Amino acid sequence: MSNKNIDWDNLGFNAHETKSMFRANYTLESNWQVEGLIPYGDVSLSPASTVLNYGQGIFEGTKAYQTSRERVVCFRLEDNANRFLSSSDRMCIPPLPKGFFEKAVQDVVKDNLEFLPSKEQGSLYIRPLAFGEGPMLGVKASDNFTFLIYVTPVGSYFKSGLKSLNTIITDKYHRTATKSVGFAKAIGNYAGTLLPFKEITDQGYDEIIFLNSSDENIIDEARSANIFVLKDNILKTPSLQGSILPGITRDSVIKVASHFFNLEVHEGDVTIEELMNGDEVFFTGTAAVIVPAGSINYKNKTMEFDAKYNDSMTKQIREKIIDIQHENIEDPFGWVIPLR
Ligand code: PMP
Repeated sequence: MSNKNIDWDNLGFNAHETKSMFRANYTLESNWQVEGLIPYGDVSLSPASTVLNYGQGIFEGTKAYQTSRERVVCFRLEDNANRFLSSSDRMCIPPLPKGFFEKAVQDVVKDNLEFLPSKEQGSLYIRPLAFGEGPMLGVKASDNFTFLIYVTPVGSYFKSGLKSLNTIITDKYHRTATKSVGFAKAIGNYAGTLLPFKEITDQGYDEIIFLNSSDENIIDEARSANIFVLKDNILKTPSLQGSILPGITRDSVIKVASHFFNLEVHEGDVTIEELMNGDEVFFTGTAAVIVPAGSINYKNKTMEFDAKYNDSMTKQIREKIIDIQHENIEDPFGWVIPLR
């Protein structure tokens, strides 16, 4: 596959075919065995595989960047590896040996460098997956698993400026139950958000905010982003009580906000009222780093946020994280990992 057909200056968030992907296979007899880099392509599966029948699958999302120091770096890869481990544990997928995930990511990035955009154009999105492959008619964990990593070039979000999102808090759907699998990056957590998202986009909103299923006065998160609210000098985000994915951008925001901006960061219950009365509200995730909310609707009442993005703390935190990722500034946290 060549990189010639890609419109490099207009990359969105789409899957482009690249050169290769990484594969490892698990069997009860041999544990995880590296198959290595294989040509990018389709995967064949038993129709009775546990992933197709029962959703026994997990994934991750991270990025490689070209930096101002002319290096290719990954960002907080060990945190993705640890989250993958926690997701695999919850979904009865055998754990990868220590260091396996990080090495595999680096191997597939190195082999696909021709698909890495310049830092102005975007970054290389990295998608590790693991799933139960073996046939199992009853609801049981598979005996065979596949670990796969593919990569694809993605654009810088919102090149022409950040668009604030018009958002809505739903009291019609939950994303997950509090003692279920919300903290894991399990594939089943996402299909259930498609219909709620379709409904709110049909009504003209850009993003949906889910409430906690045990306490509908407090918020959980969006479909694939954590949420923060700033009021005066206090930055608040829902605590990791089980139904929220422990976002790596979320953790980066917490550290950057207190290290660089002297904000007081609180992890705890965030009520609907607190969210609606914030000075600034924003969403965090690997894909877009940080996106501000322009408005929030709840039960037919809409709050508009007046803060201009260009004057906002949201912008300052966002740019600080991007500056670290692109090595425009010194990384005080040891987050940036050059390719080895
Ligand atoms: N919540 C959910 C449900 C997600 O899927 C994601 C994306 N991984 C996030 C939050 C943000 O996590 P991160 O900052 O690690 O991308």
